[in-house]
Parts: sequence; structure tokens; C-alpha cells
Amino acid sequence: MVKYIYQEFKSVLNKLKFPDSWFWARYTLNTYSGCAHACIYCDARSERYYIEDFENEVIIKTNFDKKLDQRLKRARTLLPDVIAPGGVNDAYQPIEKKIEHTRKVLEVIAKHKYPINIATKSKLVTRDIDILKKIADDTWCTVGFSISTTDEELAEFLEPYSSSPSERLEALKILKKEAPHIQVGTYFIPIIPFLADDDENLENIIKQSNNAGADFVLFSPGLTMRDSQAKYFLKKLKESNYKHVVKPLLELFKGQMHPPSEYHKKFNNKLWNLCQKYKVNVRVKRWIPSDFRKWNYKLSELLLNKEYIDALKTGKSNKTLMWAGLNLNNLEESILDVYKRGELHTIKNFNPKIIEIIEPYLEKSKELKQKKGLEKFL
Ligand code: SF4
Repeated sequence: MVKYIYQEFKSVLNKLKFPDSWFWARYTLNTYSGCAHACIYCDARSERYYIEDFENEVIIKTNFDKKLDQRLKRARTLLPDVIAPGGVNDAYQPIEKKIEHTRKVLEVIAKHKYPINIATKSKLVTRDIDILKKIADDTWCTVGFSISTTDEELAEFLEPYSSSPSERLEALKILKKEAPHIQVGTYFIPIIPFLADDDENLENIIKQSNNAGADFVLFSPGLTMRDSQAKYFLKKLKESNYKHVVKPLLELFKGQMHPPSEYHKKFNNKLWNLCQKYKVNVRVKRWIPSDFRKWNYKLSELLLNKEYIDALKTGKSNKTLMWAGLNLNNLEESILDVYKRGELHTIKNFNPKIIEIIEPYLEKSKELKQKKGLEKFL
């Protein structure tokens, strides 16, 4: 039986130094602490999160909506940017149905016209389609369903209190049908070695997401195995019908937190090919502001997507490209002005190779003699 504790917290919104290049979030918020979905692999059980009894004691953060409203109202230093609710909890965990806590927070986000990216394992998100539609109309709204397996029995073991995979796919379908301008997709994260990384499951997830109308499938091979989270996961496996995977798992991880890079490469490759086969995007399309950050964000998306896809294909990550993309988000003026002054090299990590990638786009804009030029070109 889950114990619910009401508690007021000082801070409601966390600003990231750089937008996260997968979900494009600049801000995170957690309406709850702890998660009654109780997925047995959940990384929130790691000691680094300091959450005592993660799934049995859930804290409901009181006055969250009012505090967020005040925070966004007083926000002289904040610029609207993507908010991602729920990092180490699900904003739509079971209690949400009764108390509508996340819903009230969404109303505040809609009022202040901030874009949003929600990741959930619950079909309950469809209840809030009215607010999500409004956010999508005014700015940008993305909803991603975390799905690790289409095997309902395995899912019940791994994620005992969330909606079943077929219910999540059905919810995705409903959102796409009723509000096509909400970007929807699947977060195929984590991909659990020996339980959910067989070819059939990989293909099922991509195919079924595509059939349901997913705009993207974001995937990340492997799983984190960290201190108390790893202990809990292995204990649950040993007590189950899936105990045969314990030995190969330990052999694969060799005491490390992540599987070896060959594992990542192999599965990235398989998933990339499947996404090509079903013509599924492997990236979330980014929210673009209309202020001075417009081209910074668009070109940052271009660099970060290039880095991501190149790494998928080659297995090698280009850190300079990644940092150039990330730093561009924090430029305090438009890149078009920096370009006009001939000072692109002054942007952090903009070496000649990065400038070579970016310049054709900026050049095109000059040719078209209007800032709209890039829009047509990109
Ligand atoms: S829904 Fe997410 S946060 Fe909640 S237990 Fe599962 S993995 Fe953890």
C-alpha cells in the first residue's frame, strides 16, 4: 500500500545549464517525489537521488501550481522554453487520477505559454488533451510514451503499476488522432539486455509505434546498473521466472554501470535500420522560439541532430560538434548578427569545421536578403 505524504517544497522549477538535446527541455519540474509505477529497473532507486522509499512513499508537492505561477510571473531572468515534467517520477502515476495535481500545473504552464515535453507510461495523459492541445496551439507540445517491450506479461513484471504497452500505444493513437499538432512518439528507453533486446521486440516497438501514428521513436540501448538500483533489479530478477538472465547480465556489465560500447553500437545499428525501414524519425522535432534565439535554436538543432545521427552510424561521438550545438543555445544574441560581423569563430567550440557546416545556411540567408531565408532553406 503506497503512503502519500503532502509536503511543501521551496523550489518548483529547475533550469538546466544547456537544453537537453534529446527532449529539448530547458526546465524540469517534479510534481511528485517517488513513483508508484514501481518499475523494477528504475534508476530513481539509485543512491544519487536520495529518495528514501521510492515506490512506497510518494510525496505530493503541495501548492506546486501556485508557486509555479508566481515563479513564471516574476520571471525577469527566465525566457519561455521547454519544460519537462517528471524526471525521476511519472507525472501521471496512479494518484494523479484522483487529485489532478499535474493537471493544475499544466494549466499554469498553458497560462504562461511555455512549451512542454511529457514522458509517461500512463494512458491517463489523454485526460488532459484539452490543455495539451492549447499548449500545442500556443507554443509546442510533445508527449512521448516510454515503452521497453510489447510483451504484456514481461511488461507487467518490469512495470507492474503503469498502463500496459498496448494501452500506451492506444493513448498515443488517440492523441495523434484528436490533436495532430501535438508531437507524439515512443521513448524506447531503457532497452533491457536479454529480456527486451531480441529482434522481434525491437521490430515490434518501431512497427507498432509507427502504426499508432508516432512522429518519432527515440531509443537508447542498454540500461543503467547503479548501486541500490542494480541490487533491487537483480533481486527481483532472481525471484522471478526471468532468473536465467541474471548470469548473462552480470557477464555483460562486468561490474560497470553501462553495457560495453559494442553493445550500444550493435543495437543502435539495428534500431537505426529498423527506423529507416519504417520511415520513423529518430529525433524529436525541436520547439523554436520566435525571439532572437530563433536561428540559434534551429542551427543548434541541426548540429546536435548531425552529431547524433553520425554517432549512430559510425559509433563515434564528435564532442566538439556536440558542444558547439549546445553552446549555441546560450548565445545572448542572434547568430545572424554574429555572422554579419564575421565573428562566428568567437562562439565557443566553433572551429573551422563547424563553421563550414553552418555557413551555407547563413550564406543562403544573406543571398535571400531576409531572415526568413533560412526558414525556406532548412
Ligand atoms: S514510471 Fe518512470 S519514474 Fe516511475 S518507476 Fe517507472 S521508470 Fe521510474
